[in-house]
Amino acid sequence: MFCPQCGSSDTKLVEGLCKTCFLKEFYLLKLESEIVVTLCTSCHSQIQEGKWKELGLPEEEIIYQALEENIHVSPMVENVEIELEIIHRRGSLADCRVIAKGVVFGEEITQEYKTTVRLNKTVCPDCSKIASGYYESVIQLRADNRPLYQEEIALADEIIALNLNKLEKKNRMAYITQRTPMKEGMDYYIGSQKAAKKLINKLREQLGGLVKESPRLMGQDKSTGKGLYRTWISLRLPQFSIDDFIQYNDRLAQVKSLDSRKIIVRDLINQEKFSILWKDYANIKLIGHREDIQKTTLTSKTPHSIQILHPTTFEPIDLEINPDYDKLSIGDEVDVLEIEGKIYIIL
Ligand SMILES: [Zn+2]
Ligand SMILES: [Zn+2]
Repeated sequence: MFCPQCGSSDTKLVEGLCKTCFLKEFYLLKLESEIVVTLCTSCHSQIQEGKWKELGLPEEEIIYQALEENIHVSPMVENVEIELEIIHRRGSLADCRVIAKGVVFGEEITQEYKTTVRLNKTVCPDCSKIASGYYESVIQLRADNRPLYQEEIALADEIIALNLNKLEKKNRMAYITQRTPMKEGMDYYIGSQKAAKKLINKLREQLGGLVKESPRLMGQDKSTGKGLYRTWISLRLPQFSIDDFIQYNDRLAQVKSLDSRKIIVRDLINQEKFSILWKDYANIKLIGHREDIQKTTLTSKTPHSIQILHPTTFEPIDLEINPDYDKLSIGDEVDVLEIEGKIYIIL
């Protein structure tokens, strides 16, 4: 067997050549002379495998990473060692050197390669949306049959700011682009619809209320052909507040607390606590505010009845005794509420 390239006949052939000739033409690795990386100037996310990925690395690291990803080492090489170096930067170009060391057929080879990494700087779709004030959802904070209270707006502002702060770490579109006071309430413009829905849940946990969503078709996504929707989500807070008085299925009660699922109230007659689901909100009637509570004095108490004075006319009123009145004594000042001419002690 002799080598067709040099004519030597004393060695085994490797892919048709003697080892010396084979190694002369052998490349330890494949590397393009130019590597293009598309990245966003504002957030440093990159296009990888056709998709924008949020990596946010510094430019030097982006260059090193591009080199690593574009070096293809021959499977014949053992004990590979690769050194990367940025030799020179000019504008968006980086000239780089790659030094590769490895063992092929028992021979240690060192080779040097040169390539240029081109940073194709642009603005990613998320950043251009953010810059243009894009939003997917509007949270409309409203109240049923009344204006919003200042404390409710302050609490909603706080809940939204706190949770956007958390959501933003995983979703760049979790931002607020506008907060607009309206005659009917407050509008919050939110970048991501997913984030808006999470915010609504957080708001309901503390403020309660009823949610209604209305998506509207805004056009078509030119690249995917899918419909583009913007969703208005209204959160209507109840007409009543904590400590207000309501009527529900002939029961009179005071509102004690609420969450995203239910309203907890206390019966004015037997002092029992019970809950009403938000879906039954329409059956709740507001009958008095906490400000309507008046003070009066307990004038007499027997095992069967107690007597108080009417808070405004001072006429004595007899009320049926109730185990919950045990702790009251003659002369005590008590809270009372007048509903349709009847007086109720509020404990
Ligand atoms: Zn040869
Ligand atoms: Zn970006």
